[in-house]
Amino acid sequence: MIKKRYILNFPPESGDKAFTYHLVKDYDIRINILKAEVFPGKRGSLLLELQGKKENIEKGVEYIVSHKIKCEPLDKRIYFQEEKCIDCGNCTAVCFAGALTMNKTNWKLNFDKNKCVVCELCIPACPLKLFKIDFN
Ligand code: SF4
Ligand code: SF4
Repeated sequence: MIKKRYILNFPPESGDKAFTYHLVKDYDIRINILKAEVFPGKRGSLLLELQGKKENIEKGVEYIVSHKIKCEPLDKRIYFQEEKCIDCGNCTAVCFAGALTMNKTNWKLNFDKNKCVVCELCIPACPLKLFKIDFN
């Protein structure tokens, strides 16, 4: 079992295809939609996390691409220099994914990497520049 993230960009003619249904049913892939900007009849984009057997994910990606949907792996993460954080909370205001939150008991910043969708909005929001893109 592996877990990989992909950014999908699809043209209007592919927008209403139920490809997520086929990924689940035909390729036994578990899908987590991390971010979606889909407008019926227009272009759209999705940030998906796919979990399943490596060969199934590869076949699923082939299926997506065969429907003229651009599918690129997201091989980057946010690197956070936690030890330098002053818990000012600025970054929590821009993190719509809920990965950056303040602990209401001790007012310390909490960073949940599993919720991060690598939108990069926290990078300019931190006055100490503690966030960076980490390519792997
Ligand atoms: S990149 Fe930063 S702002 Fe965006 S989801 Fe991740 S932690 Fe939140
Ligand atoms: S903006 Fe920077 S210093 Fe402030 S809480 Fe977020 S990471 Fe810490």
